[in-house]
Amino acid sequence: MQQSDEGRERLRRLRDEIKERIDYRSFYLRYCRPANEQASQARFQALCPVPSHNHSGRGNPSLSIDLGRGLFHCFSRDEGGDVFRFYELMHDVSFGRAINDLARELRIEDSSKQLPLRFRAAPDAEATQQSGQTYEPLDAKRMGRVCEMFLEVCREEEQAEGINYLQRRGIDSRTIKRAGITYYPRRAYRRIMRRMNESFALDELQRSGLFNSREHLTFYRHRLLFPFVVENRVIYMQARTTAAGVEPRWHNLRGGVPALYNVDALAKLASNSIVYLVEGFTDTLTLAAHGFAAVGLVGAGGLREDWLPKLARFQICLALDPDEAGRRAARRYREMFVSRKMEVACLQLSGDVNEFFRHRPSAALEFALLTEAAMEKREIEVRSQKSE
Ligand SMILES: [Zn+2]
Repeated sequence: MQQSDEGRERLRRLRDEIKERIDYRSFYLRYCRPANEQASQARFQALCPVPSHNHSGRGNPSLSIDLGRGLFHCFSRDEGGDVFRFYELMHDVSFGRAINDLARELRIEDSSKQLPLRFRAAPDAEATQQSGQTYEPLDAKRMGRVCEMFLEVCREEEQAEGINYLQRRGIDSRTIKRAGITYYPRRAYRRIMRRMNESFALDELQRSGLFNSREHLTFYRHRLLFPFVVENRVIYMQARTTAAGVEPRWHNLRGGVPALYNVDALAKLASNSIVYLVEGFTDTLTLAAHGFAAVGLVGAGGLREDWLPKLARFQICLALDPDEAGRRAARRYREMFVSRKMEVACLQLSGDVNEFFRHRPSAALEFALLTEAAMEKREIEVRSQKSE
């Protein structure tokens, strides 16, 4: 993957630069004192300070330092390496963290700041894990504030490209508006980044995942924004690319998806109504645009047990993708619903919901009829189970 390659490349660059600039003598003298006043020599012995070695502190010095090459070796534990390894052992940190710490100490500029914008804007992935940087999750309230502000700022930009993209997929502007979907063109990237920078502490922006460790807005290639609204508040956000050939197609904030997509649409819905459980935003909105109540999963397997209570007062109809993942998920969900004494029907289409609606002029009617058939089949199954 591009990001992790890039992360590795960055660490390699920093490591080489540190090796050029570091003073091995003063580095090692920070941690250990030479035995027998040998410090002026290119090699010296010392009592080994590595905490995990658990040396008694008595006995002969077991650590040998080669200042010419910057290497160490503990003869007693037969462990050695370079300054990065030594730093890792002394501070119990990862290789990436050792590099970053030493680079900072030596004031080495991270030359990745000169990388093209699409790299600087790339979300942290393995690159972050490698550099040992982890972020505390942001609490839900602040996460919501970051999302809302971001959407607000983006909404001031030209929306046309994003709306056109969805309309081409059969989702009308009223549905788009109701779902709070927001877009911004790439030319607004720096302006939006600046506005967010002015509104929040960098730490919060990074913890939310809106910004990466390079202090850049990560929603660079993914600018069609789908908010997750729960009880009228935006709690999370996922974004799609509208360009062809961009992988991955989706980018989201940090943390797992916290709710069903469009779950707020159920609040005003009468009990016993039919609610469709589908995959993804497009299918959810396609159904919404045609007057069906639907909630969406991000990926087929994403249903969480604690989301079920909100569905309990409805008749649930699964309309997952007709692929292996969708079929497997449908089987699993049926069991989840049944174990909670909820009845569930399964709709089997030849493609996904959006395809179904796009290719049939009377799709809504056909869809309603298929649902009816699925519901009947379910009732027959339930009755036969009861009579067994
Ligand atoms: Zn040792």
